[in-house]
Amino acid sequence: MSFATLGLAPALADAVTQIGYETPTAIQAAAIPAALRGADVLGSAQTGSGKTAAFALPMLHALLGAKRERTGLYGLVLVPTRELATQVGEAIRKLVQQLPQPVKVSIAFGGVSINPQMMALRGGTDIMVATPGRLLDLLEHNALKVDRTAVLVLDEADKLLDMGFSEEIAKILGKLPAQRQNLFFSATFPPAVQALASRLLREPVRIEASADAAHEPDILQRAIEVDAPRRTQLLKQLVRQEKWSRVLVFVATKYASEHVADKLRRNGVRAEAFHGDFSQGARTEVLADFKSGRLQVLVATDVAARGIDIAELPVVVNYDLPRSPADYTHRIGRTGRAGASGIAVSFVSAETEGHFRLIENRQKKRVPRERVAGFEPVQQAAASPVSDPNGGVKGHRKSKKDKLREAAALAAQPKS
Ligand code: AMP
Repeated sequence: MSFATLGLAPALADAVTQIGYETPTAIQAAAIPAALRGADVLGSAQTGSGKTAAFALPMLHALLGAKRERTGLYGLVLVPTRELATQVGEAIRKLVQQLPQPVKVSIAFGGVSINPQMMALRGGTDIMVATPGRLLDLLEHNALKVDRTAVLVLDEADKLLDMGFSEEIAKILGKLPAQRQNLFFSATFPPAVQALASRLLREPVRIEASADAAHEPDILQRAIEVDAPRRTQLLKQLVRQEKWSRVLVFVATKYASEHVADKLRRNGVRAEAFHGDFSQGARTEVLADFKSGRLQVLVATDVAARGIDIAELPVVVNYDLPRSPADYTHRIGRTGRAGASGIAVSFVSAETEGHFRLIENRQKKRVPRERVAGFEPVQQAAASPVSDPNGGVKGHRKSKKDKLREAAALAAQPKS
């Protein structure tokens, strides 16, 4: 199968070849013809499946074919994070650069001054990639009109709702024309996402991206048993022994992010924390250092790590397990992109074993437990809620206090 056979304009088929895509991914092969027909699409797709091109190419196809001078926005892409806004916007611009005629792609997200974004919208735009809050701000400033938007894309709909954007999305929907095409992508489909999809979509074409084994991310899942206080030491050893060039480490709290990064640095590992308290400038700088390889280990919270797109991220580590199986899927999906293979390592202790089983059950996949010499666990799970030394109730989510205690226990460990 080739891009040309999907019904795309020759200029677009050439453009994808120019940027190095040889064959369409599963989501592209299914979504592109449907979107070209004007159908709504409901795509179950992870980051790394090629979904950006799956929704961008049909939009560009329509814009290339449009004879008349367009007024107003053609395509609106809503994304949950600034990183994803940049990543998606830049990916579309890369395609546009190969086209014989200009298409204007704008990117907007909050946390930075709105003025440059308003200036950039002067004279209108064809495709807008934005986070919902900032888009509303721009609409309030009359920087943009969306009442003639032809295509709405919700990218990572589950994350959009997770991050509390449902009200903003409802407001935006109210400003869009009723007659439009909707392309809806989500990695997971909890009830809230299903409800939004059924409200938004009309007889959508349903697409499961994981159907195509050739493009399925190749992720080796590993689980290493280790006592919680020894995780940083183990991490340091693994980075060295397994010669991991670039590792994204997930932790549960900002505190842990700072703490683990600090401890790694003191052990000679080029590590940095990455969490929600960072200014936009600091985020950009840290990400650039990580991308360029100046930083070897990034210790991030889930929220901060959302939307980070780093080509060739070979390893992710669940230092703290994610709360939900859906978050696990998202985390490990950060590696093994676009045909590359990746490794996802989870640290599992006696206390978190039960939770990891839940994750395994949900993904219907067992991950063999490993032990590393010198790091064999000695701690036992608390026998009853009352005897839990941390005071947490077993089987319940860790409280903030529990996590701080855990981090403090870790800090008290002797340095090597
Ligand atoms: P996405 O899921 O859209 O974030 O895309 C993930 C990665 O796959 C990006 O780095 C894309 O450049 C790449 N990609 C998308 N489509 C293809 C394709 N058909 N062939 C090879 N790589 C692709």
